Amino acid sequence: MAGAATTDTRPLTDGFGRRITYVRISVTDRCDLRCRYCMAEKMEFLPRREILSFEEIDMIAEAFIARGVRKIRLSGGEPLVRKGVTDLAARLGRHLNGGGLDELTMTTNATRLADHADALADAGVKRVNVSLDTLDPDAFRYITRWGDLEKTLDGIAAAQAAGLRVKINMVALAGMNDHHIVPMMRWCADQGHDLTLIETMPLGHIDDDRSDRYLPLDAVKHDLEQQFSLIPLAERTGGPARYWNVEQLGLKLGLITPLTNNFCDGCNRVRVTVSGKIYMCLGHDDHLDLKSALREGGREALDQVLDEAMIRKPRRHDFHIGADDAQPAVTRHMSVTGG
Ligand code: SAM
Ligand code: SF4
Repeated sequence: MAGAATTDTRPLTDGFGRRITYVRISVTDRCDLRCRYCMAEKMEFLPRREILSFEEIDMIAEAFIARGVRKIRLSGGEPLVRKGVTDLAARLGRHLNGGGLDELTMTTNATRLADHADALADAGVKRVNVSLDTLDPDAFRYITRWGDLEKTLDGIAAAQAAGLRVKINMVALAGMNDHHIVPMMRWCADQGHDLTLIETMPLGHIDDDRSDRYLPLDAVKHDLEQQFSLIPLAERTGGPARYWNVEQLGLKLGLITPLTNNFCDGCNRVRVTVSGKIYMCLGHDDHLDLKSALREGGREALDQVLDEAMIRKPRRHDFHIGADDAQPAVTRHMSVTGG
């Protein structure tokens, strides 16, 4: 007699002994903005038939959670441009509060957050990461190509009103927003937001040359230390971020430095694209196909692909940006794997 199928609960551990407890899921590759460091102005997006349904994303998330994943971040593209994404969040939210998941978060540009903040809070989301590279409306429009700063600020205010904590992500861009870093720090401190600065990474073809805009964050930190006391914090999230308390402002400042520093030894994450591909490292093209496994072989086949992914997760990324780098390190845009 065939017994009931048992759920695979073996922890996801890669070939270097790293436990995978964090998954970023891209729910769309589309976006309503075109940030210059992220996308070209003219982008080709996936045909809708190739993207995972919410049911499929839910099944993939369930398999990850059964195998020890404790944190899920929904990203994109812009996750809030996908219709019904807050329903997906609500569905995933059932795993919170003792159901295996510690945290469900979202990364968003906040253009549509004013309409969705309450639904996200109801789904169990406690925190959103918002991309905001400047507080200057003209510079904001230039960097995003057509964005309206007011909308993003309204979205952030709505998130706060809904009780969500907001962490601001700011990509540091030489000659574009380097003089906006200190004003952003002061604003975040006033508003009670954490701030993370990010080095621009060589992902996907864009219209500009990234090497012109690359701003090493160790140089930024050195400049900040002339004005502020930066006290290192012990906090680690298994990613490339390190945190400091900016004493004079009472601000928690994160620096994501994949290029000037390599923190891959403690990596705890993988990424799933909206077409169902699992990428084991942001800096490598190697990937496996979860969608076909799920559609053709169900949960068992999915678990086999997850096992294979653990074997193939590389030790580290090989990013660098130099004056001679005409080509990106990987051709996929950050918007495909969701940051
Ligand atoms: N659209 C949402 C947003 O902007 O927050 C979520 C997706 S976006 C790809 C996720 C994060 O990746 C954002 O903070 C964005 O600034 C960052 N990002 C995009 N392209 C990048 C690049 N080439 N290097 C470093 N960060 C990048
Ligand atoms: Fe869109 Fe986010 Fe990329 Fe900007 S960073 S173009 S908001 S996906």
